[in-house]
Amino acid sequence: MTVLVRRAARAMRDLMIRRGGPLTRELEKETARFGLGRMPGRMAPDHITTMVCGFCSTGCGLDVLLKDGEAVGLAPARAHPVNRGMACPKGWEALSPLSSPARATAPLVRRDGRLVPASWDEALDEMVSRFKTIQERHGASSLAWIGTGQMPSEELALLGALGKFGMGIVHGDSNTRQCMATAATAYRQAFGFDAPPYTYRDLEESDVIVLVGSNLCIAHPILWERVCRNRHRPEILVIDPRCTETATAATRHYAIRPKTDLALLYAIASTLIQNGWIDREYIGAHTSGFDAFAAHVAGFTLERAEAETGITKARAAELAGLIHHGKRVSFWWTMGVNQSHQGTRTAQAIIALALLTGNIGRPGTGANSVTGQCNAMGSRLFSNTASMFGGRDFADARERAEVAAILGIDRALLPDRPSLAYDEILDGIVSGAIRGLWIIGTNPAHSWIDQDSMRRALSRLDCLVVQDMYQDTETARLADIVLPAAGWGEKDGTFINSERRLGLIKRVCRAPGEALADFHIFHLVAQAWGCGDLLRDWSSPEAVFQILKRLSQGRPCDITGIEDYAMLDRQGGVQWPFPQGAALECDERRLFEDGHYFTPDRRARFLFTEPLPLPEPVSADYPLLLLTGRGSSSQWHTETRTGRSPVLQKLSPGAIYVEVSPHDAEALGVQPDEMVSVSSVRATIQARVFIAPTVQPGQVFIPMHYPTANRLTFPAFDPHSRQPAYKACAVRIARATR
Ligand code: SF4
Repeated sequence: MTVLVRRAARAMRDLMIRRGGPLTRELEKETARFGLGRMPGRMAPDHITTMVCGFCSTGCGLDVLLKDGEAVGLAPARAHPVNRGMACPKGWEALSPLSSPARATAPLVRRDGRLVPASWDEALDEMVSRFKTIQERHGASSLAWIGTGQMPSEELALLGALGKFGMGIVHGDSNTRQCMATAATAYRQAFGFDAPPYTYRDLEESDVIVLVGSNLCIAHPILWERVCRNRHRPEILVIDPRCTETATAATRHYAIRPKTDLALLYAIASTLIQNGWIDREYIGAHTSGFDAFAAHVAGFTLERAEAETGITKARAAELAGLIHHGKRVSFWWTMGVNQSHQGTRTAQAIIALALLTGNIGRPGTGANSVTGQCNAMGSRLFSNTASMFGGRDFADARERAEVAAILGIDRALLPDRPSLAYDEILDGIVSGAIRGLWIIGTNPAHSWIDQDSMRRALSRLDCLVVQDMYQDTETARLADIVLPAAGWGEKDGTFINSERRLGLIKRVCRAPGEALADFHIFHLVAQAWGCGDLLRDWSSPEAVFQILKRLSQGRPCDITGIEDYAMLDRQGGVQWPFPQGAALECDERRLFEDGHYFTPDRRARFLFTEPLPLPEPVSADYPLLLLTGRGSSSQWHTETRTGRSPVLQKLSPGAIYVEVSPHDAEALGVQPDEMVSVSSVRATIQARVFIAPTVQPGQVFIPMHYPTANRLTFPAFDPHSRQPAYKACAVRIARATR
C-alpha cells in the first residue's frame, strides 16, 4: 500500500513539474509568421486576409488571421500604404469587442416598461406599424433617422435610399455631424466640393507641419508615426490651448486662449500679406476673393492677436516667418477646429493660408482636415442625408433627375430639400414635429452635447428604434425596439479614409445569436414596409458598390475605374477620384496639382468672417473654461466597443478625471486624486483631480469618453455646418462633500 501511495505521489509530482506535454504546448504561444502577433500553436491560421480597421479615419490595413474561415487574431499589415506594419492599441484589439457578453443577440421590444426578447418578425412588425401610424397622423416629416460614420458606404447608401425613397422619410443625419460637418462645409464652400486634397505621404514630405486643434499623437497615432518618418527635420508647429502629447513633441507650441484660433490665423495671414510673403502668381491664377480677404484681415494686427490669443506679437510673427520660410508647408486640423461655434470659417482661414502661400497641390503641402470615424468620408459622399448621392444637391432639380435616372426610379420619390441637421432634428422632436426616430450604430444619450437635453428629447418620442451591436448602450436602454446588429468584422463593405482611400472590410467572424448585418436589417425593414421591390438591385454590398460607382460617374469623387472588391483587395485600397480608363500609377495621390478647383470658375475661394465671442464665457459663478477631447489612443468615443476590451481598459484611466493646472489646484485647495464636483449651468458631475501643467490656469480638461462628460457641455453650433461646439464651456470646481 505504502509503495502504491509513493508511486502515485511520484507520478503526481512528475506530472506537476513536467515541462512538456500537450497542455504545455497548448499554452505556449508561438510567433506568428507575420507582424508581431503571437498565439497558441493550435490556433495557427490557415489563411490571412487584409481589411481596414473599423475605428478611426486613418484606415490602417490589418492582416486578419483565419482558421477555418473564422478570425483567430490579427496584426497590422506590413505592406499596406497607410500604416506600413503599424497599428495603435485599438487596431490590435479590434476583435475583442465582438465577443462581449453585452452583444445584442435577439430583437427586443418594450413591454410593460421592460425590453423583452422578440422574434425578428414581431420587432419589425412593431417598428413598421408604429412608424406608419406616426407618418399617417403627422406627415412624412414626422420620422427621422440618425446613422453613423462607422457603417460601410454600401450600408449608408442602402439606408439613405430606403429611408428617403422607400419610406418617404425626409430627415436623416449621422453622427458624422459631430466630427466632420465643419470640414465638409468648409471644403464645399471653398473648393466647390467636399474634397480633402492630401495624401498621407504629405506628412513625410513637408518641411513645415502646422497642426491646428489636433492632438495627432493620441487621436491619429499612425499619422503621427508618418510624421516621425519625415526625413526633412520639419518644423512642427502646434496651435492648441492645451499642452497635448503632440504639443510636447512639436518643435513649437502656440498655447492660444481657447477659440481664439481664428483671430491668430487672420493675424498670420495679414502678416504674410503685409510682408509680401505670398504667392501672387498662384493667387491670381487659381483663387477668387483675395482682395476682400486682404482688406478683412488687414485689421488683425499682431497687437490685436496678442490681446485676443495670449500669443505675444513676437511669437505670432515667428509663426508667420516659419510658414514663409517653408518650401513645403502643410496645414492640418481636426476637432479643435471642427467642433467650434465658428469652425467653418476657422477651417477656411487655414485653407486661406495654404492658398496665399501657394502651399497646395504640391508634395508636402495642403489644407488638410483629418477626419474622425472610419467611414466619415463615405458618409459625406454616399449617405444621402445632408447631400444627395455623390455630393449632389437635393434642391437642384437637374441633379435629382440625374440620380433618379441612374437608379431607375420615379423622380417624384426624391425629396427636394436636404435633411434637417442633427440638432434641428432634436428641435423637431422637442416641438412635436418629429415623433419617431431610428438610431443606427451611435450612442447619442452619451455623446451628444448637453447630454441631458438629448435624453429629454428622446423621452418625448412616440417610438424610438435603436439598431446596435450592444443592448446596454445608454441609448439602447431608452429604446422601444432594439434591433441586434453585426459589427465590423462580421460584414462586408467599403470605408473611405481621410486621404480619400476606399478600403475593404470583410466578414471574418459570425455575428452572435440572431444579430444581422445592418445591410440585411435594412432589407428586412424594406420588405416589412412594402418597398422591397424598389431595392431589388441593391442585393448585396458588392452590388451596391457597383451602384455607387454609377452614382459617382462624372463627379469629383468618380470611382468608376475601380472594377470591384477584388481590385480594392489587390491594391490595398484606391483613392478617389479614379475614373474609368485611369491608370493606377501611384497609390498616394493628392488633388489640385493643376490648380483647378471644383467651383464654376475653377478657382478656390477666400471666405472669412468677423470672429465671434465664446458662446458661454466664464463668469464669477463659473470661472473655469472646460475643454473636452480625446483622452487616450486606447479609447474610442463613448467606449461602446473599446470599453469591452480588458486590454484597452488597462491602458487608460478607468474613472473620469479632470485635468487642473497646478495654479488652479492650489487656489482651489485640491489634492491629486481628490474627488471634486464639476458644475456647469446644466449639470454637476463628480471627477477625480489630475493636477497637470497640460492645461493653462483658468482652464480644465475632461476626456469625452466618460459617460457624464457631456452633461456639462454647452449646446452651441457652427452656423454653416451645424456641428456642435464641444470644446469650451464655463464650469466651476468644488471639493466634494465627504
Ligand atoms: Fe485603427 Fe485608427 Fe488605430 Fe489605425 S490609428 S489601428 S485605423 S484606430
